[in-house]
Amino acid sequence: MKTAVIGGGASGLMAAIAAARNGAEVTIYEKLNRVGKKILATGNGRCNYTNMNMSIDRYHGKNIKLAENVLNFFDLNKTLNFFEGLGINPYVGELGKVYPSSLQASSVLDVLRYEAERLKVKEITDFEVIELRKSKGVFSIIGKDNAYEAEKVILASGGKASPQLGSDGKGYELARSLGHRIIEPFPALVQLKLKGQYFKRITGIRFDGVIKGFTDKKVIREDEGEILFTEYGISGPPILQISRNVIEELNKGHKVFVSVDMFPQFSKVDLYDLLSLRFNKIGYKSMEDGMVGFINKKLITVVLMEAGFDDLNKKCGKLNKKEIYKIIDILKEWKFEVTGHNTWQQAQSTAGGVDMSEVNPKTLESAKVKGLYLTGEILDVDGDCGGFNLQWAWSSGYTAGYFSSTLV
Ligand SMILES: Cc1cc2nc3c(=O)[nH]c(=O)nc-3n(C[C@H](O)[C@H](O)[C@H](O)COP(=O)(O)OP(=O)(O)OC[C@H]3O[C@@H](n4cnc5c(N)ncnc54)[C@H](O)[C@@H]3O)c2cc1C
Repeated sequence: MKTAVIGGGASGLMAAIAAARNGAEVTIYEKLNRVGKKILATGNGRCNYTNMNMSIDRYHGKNIKLAENVLNFFDLNKTLNFFEGLGINPYVGELGKVYPSSLQASSVLDVLRYEAERLKVKEITDFEVIELRKSKGVFSIIGKDNAYEAEKVILASGGKASPQLGSDGKGYELARSLGHRIIEPFPALVQLKLKGQYFKRITGIRFDGVIKGFTDKKVIREDEGEILFTEYGISGPPILQISRNVIEELNKGHKVFVSVDMFPQFSKVDLYDLLSLRFNKIGYKSMEDGMVGFINKKLITVVLMEAGFDDLNKKCGKLNKKEIYKIIDILKEWKFEVTGHNTWQQAQSTAGGVDMSEVNPKTLESAKVKGLYLTGEILDVDGDCGGFNLQWAWSSGYTAGYFSSTLV
């Protein structure tokens, strides 16, 4: 049986291997000049390929519960075993993130390619599928100059995140042409742009803190970890983590804010005790000088101005309780309005896509077209930062590859 896999990304490679192991004659059609380019970029070149803390709660989408079957069918243990079987020794980093112990994303791509080659999976690269048709039980996979045929098709063309790595959203058109409805995609895991006048002055400052996204009605989401001030606002894993939920609210037309806590280890009261003791000891110093050694020097003037001080030469010892709390409010709850987000080019994943209710949640076969399977980011499933998106790619790819070649 001939199986065509459209897209040689993470889920496509996995689907090809699973189908070929079941005896299918598999060809991958990839529009770029080689498969797996995005895999090389994952985890800052280290490929955070899964997470020890797997749970459906780490995934989002309109009918997200329908993804649970697939995540359980090819679960964390099966994923670790699969990759160990190919030679990938797991290294577990912070927050349960799993990497190959080589800390090279290229190792993950290499072993997938070796296995595909061993199973005689064909790769046709520089081939963009521009049309997909089915007639009399056979699919036509049509490119600009050539067309191929197959009995089964696995559509693994990704979402819209990082189009420079191949996934430019044209796969949605293929799905739409076969009767699928697309839930409007938006970037997930992307940096947020914030309103603030001082970002240029504090660009590059990093610290461990907590970010909270909120509207005037509710806290949307919060996360902690390394935070980095940039020219346009804030970057770092916690902002990526909350971005999906923040953008969802922005898309509803709501005003959204984030607040930054630079001292999550201290309550406001603790911080008051610490600062008042400090300012008592060095009461002869100006406020500006008195903060040296407490926060990054580039931040001092900005924090004091944001706290509403005009005279930065005022002596520390002269600050009253209310004034010290004004500084603490900025250190613990620096508030910014979210004005937007970076583009698809910088996004690491896509929210939205083909509704999970339009595929069989056990096999990922399309409910619209028999013999068509959908995998990975083209489906309306997006995971948190930390290995969850690749786990979805492996789980969905394996499931589609397996069932497309078993249920004839
Ligand atoms: C910079 C970056 C870092 C990331 N880091 C991590 C990480 O560490 N951990 C994690 O879990 N997730 C990470 N992700 C997310 C993860 O890489 C994706 O969720 C995952 O690769 C999606 O797999 P996919 O198979 O659905 O799509 P993709 O990997 O995007 O593959 C789709 C493939 O289809 C091809 N294609 C598209 N349209 C066509 C067409 N019409 N014809 C032929 N071929 C086509 C594309 O060229 C591409 O090769 C990262 C993403 C980015 C961008």
